[in-house]
Parts: sequence; structure tokens; C-alpha cells
Amino acid sequence: MRILVVEDDVGIARGLRLNLKQCGYAVDVCDGVESAWSALHLETFDLVLLDLGLSDGDGADLLKRLRQNTRGAHPLPDPLTPVLILTARDQVADRILGLDTGADDYLIKPFDADELQARMRALLRRSAGRAHPLLRHGDIVVDPAARSVHRGGQPVDVSPREFVILMQLLESRGKVLSRQQLESRLYSWHGSVESNAVEVHVHHLRRKFGDGVIQTMRGVGYFIARAAAGDEGAEGDAAP
Ligand code: CA
Repeated sequence: MRILVVEDDVGIARGLRLNLKQCGYAVDVCDGVESAWSALHLETFDLVLLDLGLSDGDGADLLKRLRQNTRGAHPLPDPLTPVLILTARDQVADRILGLDTGADDYLIKPFDADELQARMRALLRRSAGRAHPLLRHGDIVVDPAARSVHRGGQPVDVSPREFVILMQLLESRGKVLSRQQLESRLYSWHGSVESNAVEVHVHHLRRKFGDGVIQTMRGVGYFIARAAAGDEGAEGDAAP
């Protein structure tokens, strides 16, 4: 999952980056309205964490610009990108304005890291069209909150990056994701990308789950079929 943090307080930004990276998110940080607006043109983010009082303007203006963006021929910035406001402003009027401008949620600083994680999971779940907190595929059950994977009731040990790839493919069931698309969920702009990382992670996942779960479309990418064999009305499936 790729997260854009828009925050001009260096200490808070550093803390967020560290904390989110530990949870397996790929994190990019911008310190102002204009740099964030540029970033939103270059990359699809799964979620934006937005401070309101920024060095070069108001985060609410960035949010307004994003929500009013008509994409035309360009796919980015995506006006549907989920946005969670992080702000020290505890005035009710500011919170109402933020939500009415198009924020999906807000949290007041100082916030609890665990609460932020839970709110992020809820937003990511909702934007993937999922109501149930667990993802199920056949006898595989993925719990994003616990970052755990079970198969047939037995825990399966997966690395943080394998977990991200499995989540991405499950959230996009039936859709082929290219190596580059998966890479962009694993690495921020400042992270170094190992050249065959995605192939290696997929190889490991196949060793753990068998060859039938993650499938290859040659020259295009990887996918997980919409439903596992004999998997009728699987709980947690996204709407078609
Ligand atoms: Ca600020």
C-alpha cells in the first residue's frame, strides 16, 4: 500500500514514516501543498494523510483541488483518493469544513498510532469496496489488522512484502497487476528497488500457497482469480 504523508513538521513526518514503514506501507512525504499536488500527478496513492497548516498554504485547499479534479485524458490525480486529515486544530468548525471539503476521516494531534492504523485500515477497506475486516479466498484468510495469514486454520508465515503483494492481488481479484504496479505498492520514491523483487516474492508465496493461487499472465503480470474453486459467495469478496 502506497501512502502519501503531507506534513510540514519534520518530527511528526519522520515519526509517521517510520511507524508506517514498520507496518509494511510504502510511504512518501511532502511538506507543502504544491509538492503534494505534484506527487499526486505522478503516483497513485492508496491513502493521503493530510496536515492542514502547511508551510506554503492550507491542506484544505489541496483537498479541494483533488476532489474537484476532472481527470480528462490523465488518470492522475485520482479525485477518489481517500484522505485522512491529521490536524492540531480542534475547533469543530475546522473538522466540519474538512469533512465537507471531501475528507474521509480526521484525527486530532496528538494522536495514538494504533488508532491511526485502525482508521487507515477502515478507509483502505472501504475504498476497496469491502465491508468485512478479513479477506478470504478459498481456505486462505488474511487479517490486515493482525497482519496474519491462515490457510485451513493454520498460520502461514509471510514476510511484510509478501503480505503486501498478497493483499494487493486479493483486493484486485480478477484483475491483472503488472510488476511495476506491485512494485509501486512496495517501494516509495526514496526506497531502493531490488530488480527482481516482485518475482522473488511471488515465487515464495507460491511455495507457501501452491502454484494455483497466484497466476501469471505472461508478459503482463500476476493475478488471483475472482473466486477460488468451489468458493461460492466467499465472505469478504469485493462486489464485481
Ligand atoms: Ca503543520
